[in-house]
Amino acid sequence: MTGAGPMSGAPRSAGATVPPIDAHRSPSHAAVPSLRRGTPAGDDVLHLPVVIVGAGACGLTAALTLSDEHVDCVALERDVVPSGSTALSSGFVPAAGTRVQVAAGIVESPADFAADIRDKTHGTANEPLLQAYTEAIAPALDLLQARHGLTFELLDGFLYPGHRVRRMHALPERTGSALMGALQRAADAAGTYVLTQSHVCELWCDEDERITGVGYVRPDGTIERLRCDALILACNGFGGNAAMVRELLPEMKDAAFGGHAGNDGSAIAWGQALGARLADMGGYQGHGSWAVPQGALISWAIMMAGGIQINARGVRFHDETQGYSEAAVHVLQQPGALAWNVFDTPLLALGREFPDFCDAERAGAVRECATLEALAALIGCDVSVLEATIADRSDRSDRRALTAPFYAIKVTGALFHTQGGLDIDPDCRVLRTDGTPFPNLLAAGGAARGVSGNAVWGYLSGNGLLSAIAGGFIAARTAAALVAQGTSTGETR
Ligand SMILES: Cc1cc2nc3c(=O)[nH]c(=O)nc-3n(C[C@H](O)[C@H](O)[C@H](O)COP(=O)(O)OP(=O)(O)OC[C@H]3O[C@@H](n4cnc5c(N)ncnc54)[C@H](O)[C@@H]3O)c2cc1C
Repeated sequence: MTGAGPMSGAPRSAGATVPPIDAHRSPSHAAVPSLRRGTPAGDDVLHLPVVIVGAGACGLTAALTLSDEHVDCVALERDVVPSGSTALSSGFVPAAGTRVQVAAGIVESPADFAADIRDKTHGTANEPLLQAYTEAIAPALDLLQARHGLTFELLDGFLYPGHRVRRMHALPERTGSALMGALQRAADAAGTYVLTQSHVCELWCDEDERITGVGYVRPDGTIERLRCDALILACNGFGGNAAMVRELLPEMKDAAFGGHAGNDGSAIAWGQALGARLADMGGYQGHGSWAVPQGALISWAIMMAGGIQINARGVRFHDETQGYSEAAVHVLQQPGALAWNVFDTPLLALGREFPDFCDAERAGAVRECATLEALAALIGCDVSVLEATIADRSDRSDRRALTAPFYAIKVTGALFHTQGGLDIDPDCRVLRTDGTPFPNLLAAGGAARGVSGNAVWGYLSGNGLLSAIAGGFIAARTAAALVAQGTSTGETR
């Protein structure tokens, strides 16, 4: 049932141990997140040990991990074809100590990786979670590779800001859509249930604050319900909820949103209704290199290798090597909230190694200027100012001089995804406001707090998929342990 799953009916199962989903139906209402007290009732309401809300990288990693642990689960996904922000991403996953990284001759420990994240956040990342995620990501990727056929490679040729060594893993296609495709194929092969067109709108909880089930809207407007022993929220954050962005990230209120519409803040709404603690709500992944009007990501590798950002007055306005996330805010502060990425022929060749860049180039984003005068005319600035800007390498002495012909891409600052959310412990258990965990509610990926601290500048490249994949892996193991103990609902079924 992954991909274009049927509108209703049975999720597939390798072992066919789960009866068809022909769940309880009730009159339709909009898919607004709500919290209901009690347990979904009715003989036709099915029970599954674990329910996952959302089938992006986090949800599918959790589902695959549960399948490895021989625990039945279903991932409920609102879209016809699961994609989420994962499919829109570049699909680069950082990890320390994978077999792939070791084979490339790079020796680093999870602690080394954690140190880079800690430095980027100036020590503000949540320490227990940082340790848990950096330790879990390599085993998670190794398992996805060894058991589920994801053929990760180590990216070569440049380092992202703040990465001391090469640790970015990607599939050969180097796209998030390829990552999603591979996860979905793996889920199909493992017989994992992914029920598409199932927009979860209800969480059910009993008087002990145990999650007892969920309700989800089907395309015909009816609501079906399931009971469960543990619930994993893997439905990402609030980047697609304009009102929440306005309130919580005011500096991004007018920014383009590069993520998925399903990032609507529903996990946070449920958390608030339950009395969960929220954390790092000011943390997010921005990007200062979003081509306009094409609406496409231009790889920051070009900046790291010597490209520069210039505003409409022909001057640079920040140190590009600090990070693309905070660059979003710097670009948005420029006249017209715009900048030009300026580079030359060797950097054009580097850009063309990235599928996103090639798509943007095909869409007309890359403008060639044979001379400095032509570049000044394109930008609309004084040529002598531009000449001085390009000649001045005093703050980036390692940067070689750019030479004609020049290439320029008009960009703005964008919001990619939020890094604040439900506070969780290192086992991905959602915490109450008093810091104690709910009995059987788990969250990971963009639905939970990340490891980027509470500000845009804390985002180290890759923290998004780190949280999604390491978090999905950990949450699934916690859920499996809860199911095995039979403690989540106080009974085994
Ligand atoms: C342009 C871009 C490039 C990026 N590049 C990178 C990168 O290279 N490396 C990196 O680490 N990070 C990157 N990121 C960030 C990364 O994409 C996210 O952090 C990551 O995909 C989050 O995964 P997730 O599974 O938590 O969420 P998602 O992939 O968004 O999945 C959540 C799923 O939940 C579903 N859903 C939501 N609500 C409900 C509901 N109520 N009921 C049922 N289903 C629901 C959604 O439809 C979606 O399929 C990038 C982001 C963008 C936008």
